[in-house]
Amino acid sequence: MIQQLNQIFHSIIKSLEVLYVYEGAKPCGRILLFQDEVGKAVNFLNQNGIYAEISDFKVLKQNAQSEFYSDRSLKIAKTSPEKGHFFAYISRDAETASKAKAMESENNHIGLGMLLGYPKCCCEFFEKNFNERNTDLTLDTLKNSNGFEFPFYTNIAARHFDVALLSHFPHSFECNESIMMAKKNLDVIQRHSNEISALVADILKSAVIYTAEEGIFLLRKYEKTGNEIEYSNVLTTTKSKLYYLLSSNKNLKVVGKNNFMVNDIEIRGKQFGIMAFA
Ligand SMILES: [Zn+2]
Repeated sequence: MIQQLNQIFHSIIKSLEVLYVYEGAKPCGRILLFQDEVGKAVNFLNQNGIYAEISDFKVLKQNAQSEFYSDRSLKIAKTSPEKGHFFAYISRDAETASKAKAMESENNHIGLGMLLGYPKCCCEFFEKNFNERNTDLTLDTLKNSNGFEFPFYTNIAARHFDVALLSHFPHSFECNESIMMAKKNLDVIQRHSNEISALVADILKSAVIYTAEEGIFLLRKYEKTGNEIEYSNVLTTTKSKLYYLLSSNKNLKVVGKNNFMVNDIEIRGKQFGIMAFA
């Protein structure tokens, strides 16, 4: 079924969101649909017992760090001639889907988050930190977390590579409720495909260098010894200078969760984060 979903939704993350709703693991989901594909997608959802409410506005994706994912989007009128994406609020329960649409139109972040089944701690974290200038809360989550080593379930950085088990920003990478939710989602995937669940878990088990402006990097197949991380290859959203430094060295030394050393060069910044997911 996941492959069939992927043909319609063109993204693993979106396909999984639909799957969780279909399987009843999630009360409600929220996905972006390209405007020309809304009809086809809604037909498919309805045929599978899922209600879909479509937003009364559309969005243009902006400043995407990757081709798969953008946290920032610009709202435009649904009648605008510019092509955009609509949000679809999907649920097995018609009322839940229409409530979710209403919550978003009222900018009620906490209400929407709770309807989508997100933990209360994380909804409050979102409400407190999210604003027009701060739409990607990954580094805020890191700030709220202890150290830099976390269970792979909460690796939301991999969403830039179309892989994730959560569709919200956890308030901390150690948030218990988020971890439970991600485990439940991985079980759903596994029931449909051992191969895809293994692949998802494997990608999430990466070390991550997260920057606001110089790209997001997954350090693959890494091994950690003390503060040293050795890795075999780098997935990147941007072929920046930092990418070439990281991919030509294959090892780094963690100094703190916001700075590290490569070849005796210290790399740091307020907008830098390093995390190791296992
Ligand atoms: Zn939480």
